[in-house]
Amino acid sequence: MQGCCHSFQVERIVPLTISRGQTHGLERLLVEISHEGITGWGEAGHVDTGHHCYSSQGVRRELLRLWPQLEPYAPDQWQQLEPLLQHLSPPARCGVDMALWDWWGKALGRPLWRLWGLDRQRCVATSVTVGLGSVEAVQQRLQQWFHQVQPSRIKLKLGSPQGLDHDRQLVQAVVQELEQWPGTVDLQIDANGGWTLEEAMAMAPWLGDQGAVLLEQPLPAGTNDQEAYGALRPHCPLPVVVDESCWTLEDLMRLAPHVDGVNLKLLKHGGLSQALLMARVAMGLGMELMLGCYGDTSLLNGAAAQLLPLVRWPDLDSHLNLRCDPFRGLERIQDVILPSKAPGLGIQLAKPLPW
Ligand SMILES: [Mg+2]
Repeated sequence: MQGCCHSFQVERIVPLTISRGQTHGLERLLVEISHEGITGWGEAGHVDTGHHCYSSQGVRRELLRLWPQLEPYAPDQWQQLEPLLQHLSPPARCGVDMALWDWWGKALGRPLWRLWGLDRQRCVATSVTVGLGSVEAVQQRLQQWFHQVQPSRIKLKLGSPQGLDHDRQLVQAVVQELEQWPGTVDLQIDANGGWTLEEAMAMAPWLGDQGAVLLEQPLPAGTNDQEAYGALRPHCPLPVVVDESCWTLEDLMRLAPHVDGVNLKLLKHGGLSQALLMARVAMGLGMELMLGCYGDTSLLNGAAAQLLPLVRWPDLDSHLNLRCDPFRGLERIQDVILPSKAPGLGIQLAKPLPW
């Protein structure tokens, strides 16, 4: 097989601000694996969760070193390929693993969710993300989402550098706004590790009183964060989900006794193979699943969407906030994202890319 990758730029329509800062434009990598006239696609890119950081340029260098090593193999020789992939960074491995799965699904003429025996009708609404900002900016972002997708689940970023009072003001503004909307809208909170244990213990019961339904990554990620989550849990009336704390299967096993769920992301775990394994293990341990994204296009979210039938709290909204998403094929019915029915990942180019 032959591998190659190309870099391209995407830009957020509305810049996203979280507890660690703001992002606007993003460099991404399109990964291609070709064999016997079929090309599988993957996506990779920069990831920075504070305690783990990988650059697009570093990922590109890893992939350029990998391509000659793949040449003797076919994309379905998974066991022979494993030693070549296991030392890659998670985003580099994600790009290759995705492309191998896309190739395999296309070769067999089936979407991956069907190959895995999943029920597409189980997909539920995705949350859409409202970043940190002034009360007015948060209200404006809610209005934009309402006109774009009429969401039934909002994910509000907290952990403001301005402190807990500002976080509380944002929650109250969002709750007031959502009361004006038709139907019930669930409010989820993601603090991106922006609180201390004491702050999280103060905020969690208050958030429950405000009607929030989920608390994601309230505490900073670290090797001993399971102790802090163990201390928080008796004080938290909401399900607690870890994101930045959980990159590997070892992280999942370490945190599982102390939290209710995990936010799976393909770039963080190293692609669909590992995300599917972690999903199955988490479910076996009685945990619930989120499924999230970074500044990912329809291609990467189209890959993650293959797992949606397993997920209670989908959070696949990044492609809805891109000015020029180069891809199409990821289906959406109002606020429900659905994996494509086309073979492999089922994602096509929306326009020719410049190479
Ligand atoms: Mg998160």
